[in-house]
Amino acid sequence: LIDVIDADRIIAEALPKYATESRSLMDAYGAVLRQEVHADRPQPPFDRVTMDGIAIRHSDWDAGQRIFSITDVQPAGAPAKQLVHPNACLEVMTGAVMPEGADCVIKVEDIEVSNGSAHVQDGISLVPGNFVHKSGTDAREGDIVLEPGARLTPPRIAIAAAFGAHEISVARPPSVAIISTGDELVDAHETPQQHQIRLSNVYAIEAGLRTHGFSNVERHHLLDDRDQIQAAIAALLERFDVLLLTGGVSMGKFDYVPEALRALNVEQRFHKVAQRPGKPLWFGVAPGGQPVFGLPGNPVSAIVCFRRYVLHHIEQAMGLNTRSDNAALADPVSFKPNMTYFMPVSITADDAGRQVAHPLRTNTSGDFGSLGQSDAIIELPRDVSEFPVGYVAPLYRWD
Ligand code: AMP
Ligand code: MG
Repeated sequence: LIDVIDADRIIAEALPKYATESRSLMDAYGAVLRQEVHADRPQPPFDRVTMDGIAIRHSDWDAGQRIFSITDVQPAGAPAKQLVHPNACLEVMTGAVMPEGADCVIKVEDIEVSNGSAHVQDGISLVPGNFVHKSGTDAREGDIVLEPGARLTPPRIAIAAAFGAHEISVARPPSVAIISTGDELVDAHETPQQHQIRLSNVYAIEAGLRTHGFSNVERHHLLDDRDQIQAAIAALLERFDVLLLTGGVSMGKFDYVPEALRALNVEQRFHKVAQRPGKPLWFGVAPGGQPVFGLPGNPVSAIVCFRRYVLHHIEQAMGLNTRSDNAALADPVSFKPNMTYFMPVSITADDAGRQVAHPLRTNTSGDFGSLGQSDAIIELPRDVSEFPVGYVAPLYRWD
């Protein structure tokens, strides 16, 4: 029986650093960035008008001028025009280049136009640079605007697009085989007999993988047959980067998974972690270097171990910068066993805006109906048994 912290270390050491691939920007959405993105030009690239209105010279304004003759129009997308005449203005549009010779903008709501002149209303104040977004004030040319390890969220996609990174290096997600075992299991669309249950774990795991950008995922089901399990695992090891098995890893008479893995020289790195749920978790490495996770069959255990170990570590191995998330307990929790406790919680915000975790009791590790209320699990450490209200613990969200 090892500690959660040791399980983390062993898995982290065993996982390879997954490959880098180049993708077009829209295919990179949600992926983990593997390169720096640099500003290929200053941002903004020119002194940019930020309001529809007129561009003038501030010195004219300072001298008391309030009526400006309109000599030209500066639309967005046109090269800079010139403001030449004294007491003149150019009509300017949001996104236009600031005309040469002008240094501030008065917005269109503050003027009235008649006889080819703009009359500025009373009561406005004006400083040089008004409504001008100066070139290079957001980023200078060459600045790093995105760092490796970032997940490509919509704003980061926008940044990459703005600086011309339309082909971008991201981590290639490993291919994953999800294998359920058990004679009692039938598929979700089937009508189980009295002694049977429907598969659920593998759907949860596949959904979890797909929402995190893993598209090369396949589900398989095996009966509790030693030879079949061994042959199927051997074949899947030929094709996949990661194997996730659910069920068959406990001490039951038909729990053939560890035995089959041993026969295939998948080297066991640990079996059993001091945690609840998920104590029977098995982890090993195949001769080809692929990690193999033997997740417990119990639905709550399987989902918890998948979220806490599999997803967490594969994303780390892909180079994702994960920010730690945590929440404070809304109710006291007492957990006596000398084990880490992964407790399902629902998350709300308190009056101060902090995340609080509301414990959801599960009857057993098979009681996954209660997980329907949950947003996350929190990790309560092994060496503590009484957790007061306000106790802050790490949080792993389902989504
Ligand atoms: P096992 O680890 O094979 O002893 O399975 C433990 C419990 O989890 C048993 O009640 C199984 O029926 C159940 N179980 C195993 N695999 C799955 C699965 N893929 N979906 C739902 N329940 C499962
Ligand atoms: Mg079983």
